[in-house]
Amino acid sequence: MTRPTVAVLLSALATAACGSAPPPATSNPAQAGAALPPPAGASVVASAAQPPPSLPPPVGAAEAKPQVQVVPPSAEGNPFAGAHFYIDPGYVAKVESSIKESAADAALLKKIEAFPTAVWLDSIKRAGAVSKTLDDAMAQEKKAGHPVVTVFAVYDMPDRDCAAVASNGEITVANGGEKRYQKEFIDKIAAAFKAHPKQRIVAVVEPDSLPNSATNLSVPKCAAAEPVYRHSVAYAVKTLAMPNVSLYLDAAHAGWLGWSKNREKIAKIFSDVLAEAGGADKIRGFATNVSNYDTLTPGDLPKLEPTDPCTDELTYVKILDASLTEAGISGKAFLIDTSRNGRAGIRTKSGSWCNVKGAGLGERPQVSPAPMVDAYFWIKPPGEADGGSDPSKPGFDESCGPKSPDSEPGSPPAGAWFGKYLIELAKNANPPL
Ligand code: BGC
Repeated sequence: MTRPTVAVLLSALATAACGSAPPPATSNPAQAGAALPPPAGASVVASAAQPPPSLPPPVGAAEAKPQVQVVPPSAEGNPFAGAHFYIDPGYVAKVESSIKESAADAALLKKIEAFPTAVWLDSIKRAGAVSKTLDDAMAQEKKAGHPVVTVFAVYDMPDRDCAAVASNGEITVANGGEKRYQKEFIDKIAAAFKAHPKQRIVAVVEPDSLPNSATNLSVPKCAAAEPVYRHSVAYAVKTLAMPNVSLYLDAAHAGWLGWSKNREKIAKIFSDVLAEAGGADKIRGFATNVSNYDTLTPGDLPKLEPTDPCTDELTYVKILDASLTEAGISGKAFLIDTSRNGRAGIRTKSGSWCNVKGAGLGERPQVSPAPMVDAYFWIKPPGEADGGSDPSKPGFDESCGPKSPDSEPGSPPAGAWFGKYLIELAKNANPPL
């Protein structure tokens, strides 16, 4: 997930083409090994947020009452407004497994179970479980007496994760992957969505795919996959758009696409892909910072990437919206992944994306926290790994291994449970749990 080096280098090149010298994409010794910095962002975010009118108990977890909001439904179509968030029992079971192994941290970890996370559809097999998830959400809805919104991350693109290794998927372009993606993956998900017309559904569409097409075409696998990425995202949008489904296309993050050249490129790609999908009104908006670590307000980006005008995710959303408007896509909303962005100053490179050491949980999932932002949400389930750190194991990516000073050692492969990392995220949470 969340391609670093090439993206950063190309971002830098793009910036250089605009006339200002890029920072080296290597390291920032001033920050390497530093003690935990003061948490970034919390106070500013709090002032930007609307005070929640009422805070009923979260669905499925009595312990951590104050943190899951219900706000009045909005006329503008925010799918999160007026809803509870779906609590994924599969995620809760993973947290429970860590509680069993680490009794000393039990009280802290228990609090995490009250929060919603996205359900990742990262394989054809998982697409087969969408119906069950939505049945389960319906049961939570009945119990709560409130609508429940379920968030899926749709993530099984042919030649997935083309600029890295850790999250390479099961479908290949070479083996007729485009058709398989449509028939065996997207159509299956669409059928399950269609069978639950009363459920509120959010889908984050294909993290990293179009951003890779914007900046990583010098990687042969990305160049070869580019047309397939475009057609596949268009197909996903066209097929999954339904009255009860709100789609958000992945728009990477400030440290990847913040530069004007990169924003222009992605805006043009979105405009082309949405035209192919039948129009920009098929989507609700864009998701940013998925599985990444950028803070909401200026943290370490201004230091790591001084030429990037997008110093943080809230600034990125604002500036990206202007670029999108110029490309003819206006009035869109945003979702920001805050699962691991509580602390700044933890990376030596803005491109570090794999199990970054010292990270903390960020803002709790919440509705309409800032202008244009439908929700902060934990899209990356905290505790699920970004990539394995053992060079001898399949799927090993250098960015996760012993040569990556920013990465927590001892990680299992991408998506697998990394309990030790969850404990670190919980202890470093900002705001605190
Ligand atoms: C992995 C997926 C996983 C997702 C969420 C990605 O990096 O490749 O398998 O579902 O993260 O943890």
